[in-house]
Amino acid sequence: MQQALELSRNYAGKPGIPRVLATAGIHPHEAQLADQAALAKLDDLLANPDVLAVGEIGLDYYYDHSPRPQQKQAFAQQMEVAAAKRRPIIIHCRPSDGSSNAWDDTLEMIETTWVRTNLGGILHCFTGEWEHARRALDCGFLISFAGNITFPRAENIREVAAKVPLDRMLIETDAPFLAPLPYRGKRNEPAWVGRVADKLAEVRGTTAKQVASSTANNFFRFFGVAPDAES
Ligand SMILES: [Zn+2]
Repeated sequence: MQQALELSRNYAGKPGIPRVLATAGIHPHEAQLADQAALAKLDDLLANPDVLAVGEIGLDYYYDHSPRPQQKQAFAQQMEVAAAKRRPIIIHCRPSDGSSNAWDDTLEMIETTWVRTNLGGILHCFTGEWEHARRALDCGFLISFAGNITFPRAENIREVAAKVPLDRMLIETDAPFLAPLPYRGKRNEPAWVGRVADKLAEVRGTTAKQVASSTANNFFRFFGVAPDAES
């Protein structure tokens, strides 16, 4: 949980390297480890302003690495920690094959317990349908697209990406996973996030430069962070 913050500290102030900011949270895969000590550790990490958000948290019914009731409990408890420390949440959501079960539960929990905090959040590595994106947008969320938007069978992701307002989206690497075409199957690298911008530009009939500047601005605005001098 603390490793992203350690990376952020290791690179802080190094010439030529953009700021590295962190998030902290217990992934749904590890939900069964979310005991009181782990939640207290999360709370402690949020004392650091460089930990911008709580995440990835959410529900993963594809792998079911933790039992679903425990996933829901860890998700709910981490939303409470995030609310108390006034941080947005970054959502990992993956339903069972051919189902929207994890989306239904995730969005219902956000709508009933999180939305009133007005802190918003991010749906990371979006893979759902427009209805899921629309409900999240209504809750003040941004929608983040990753390398899988370039995959031939990801028509549903591209359809959503065409509809999400440009001022409500982000792009991400999700490295080391989901390397975009033409690197699919390799270890993903942050340097390849431009391929995500290229695909979004194609889908939306705009330029990658426009996608890049809009998504960067969305990030800085959402988190209230001043842009890097070099960007
Ligand atoms: Zn994830």
